[in-house]
Amino acid sequence: MHIRKDHHLSDSIDITEGVLQGDILSPLLFILFIADIIKFFENRDVEGLNLNNLCQILMLLYADDIAALSHSASSSEATLKVLKEYCDINGLEVNISKTKIMACRTSGRIKKKDKGFQFKGKSIEVVKTYTYLGVALSSNLQGDIAATEASKRGKQAIGSTYLILSRLGAETWLSKKKLHDSMIKTTLLYLVHIWGLRKEILDKLEATHLLYFKRIFHLPVCTPHYLPRLELDIPHISPEVLKYAYNWVIKILDMREDRLSKLGLTRLIQLSANYKSPNLNWTLPVKSLLSLIGEEQMFEDMNATHWKVNKDRILNKYRSFLKLQDLKRYSKSESCQTPIPRSLEDSLPIYLTRGSFHTITPKLQLRVANIYSCNISTKLGVIKLKPAELCRFCHNSEKETIAHFLINSTFLSSLRSEYLQISKEVSDHLNLIIILDDHSTSGFKNLLNYLTACSELFNSITPN
Ligand SMILES: [Zn+2]
Repeated sequence: MHIRKDHHLSDSIDITEGVLQGDILSPLLFILFIADIIKFFENRDVEGLNLNNLCQILMLLYADDIAALSHSASSSEATLKVLKEYCDINGLEVNISKTKIMACRTSGRIKKKDKGFQFKGKSIEVVKTYTYLGVALSSNLQGDIAATEASKRGKQAIGSTYLILSRLGAETWLSKKKLHDSMIKTTLLYLVHIWGLRKEILDKLEATHLLYFKRIFHLPVCTPHYLPRLELDIPHISPEVLKYAYNWVIKILDMREDRLSKLGLTRLIQLSANYKSPNLNWTLPVKSLLSLIGEEQMFEDMNATHWKVNKDRILNKYRSFLKLQDLKRYSKSESCQTPIPRSLEDSLPIYLTRGSFHTITPKLQLRVANIYSCNISTKLGVIKLKPAELCRFCHNSEKETIAHFLINSTFLSSLRSEYLQISKEVSDHLNLIIILDDHSTSGFKNLLNYLTACSELFNSITPN
């Protein structure tokens, strides 16, 4: 090895032991060196996890990472004993501080005999959670810890994306949406098909990714999820999760019959018929997602082609199912102030593709306003309406709703007559829809100018 400084190289330094930190040669040499480890364990009759009497899974090997599996505390002890023998013969050292034991149980506490393991006289720590290849696993194998971790990372990604946006000045809705897909979605969904298929976890993921959209549009956190989803035509996260799981099934079905993943999936399907806890059999939450759209029979035909040809149809069916649910909630919604007619075929409202981000924001805020609070961001500041309280300006016992603000307020009547056209012939509700659903350039501009003028008026009378 030489060391370069500016344009000069040092004399050569011989490396006689070990490899450089981070060198890809290191895991490769390690893999070659321990290539006989499974045979070694098999020859000594160590028991791993029995897979349908077809094979034993003794350990999972990935690069320089070894995870040994046992079905009981006593067989774990036998594993450790054979591991010591293997290390002694091959001159290997085990880093005890990095070695952990996790006892997995479906319920109840960890038993005493599942603690107190030793290796060469040193205690090995027994842990309740362990991060294996980037996924946080807990001893109850329910996926909650991975979901909490993913949520935390997702929120960090939202924070850093928000920072990038403020520096870049990404000025259109589509550019902000792209940043979401590339930074937040990918962080949130890392290996999600392993841990994120349960309903409670899916709900958590939906809430986390929507935080981004609520934040960039300054929507109150209490805004029901379906409002920004319908308005912005943002798909749910769960069809993405189902897609990950679905692709994983296809990948396994394409494997050779003797591969562990394939044997494992076959066994899980056999066991799924009478399994006590649905959360511990990977196929069951997948099946229950499919059963929402009447497609649970997919598991009756485990043929790769069958799964491949049905993929797009099933995923689209699930997306439509969820959108329909949103529409039902929306039509019955008591928390939305201005219900606008919407249908399953609706895509992105045209105004979102036209204006710059700060001009589309106030219109969106009005269209998805809820009954608890509403921010309207104008270039002269934010108007904060409190729909549950009486109007601060009119003194006529009317509440500060969107209808009051846009149609009835006596305090704003002169501004209104300048910018908005209100018909006395139709109801307030219809007038509201006419204003908020008017996507013509003049309609869009008039609304924006009205909001700016209101903001100016409020600033002049409410001291900061
Ligand atoms: Zn008023």
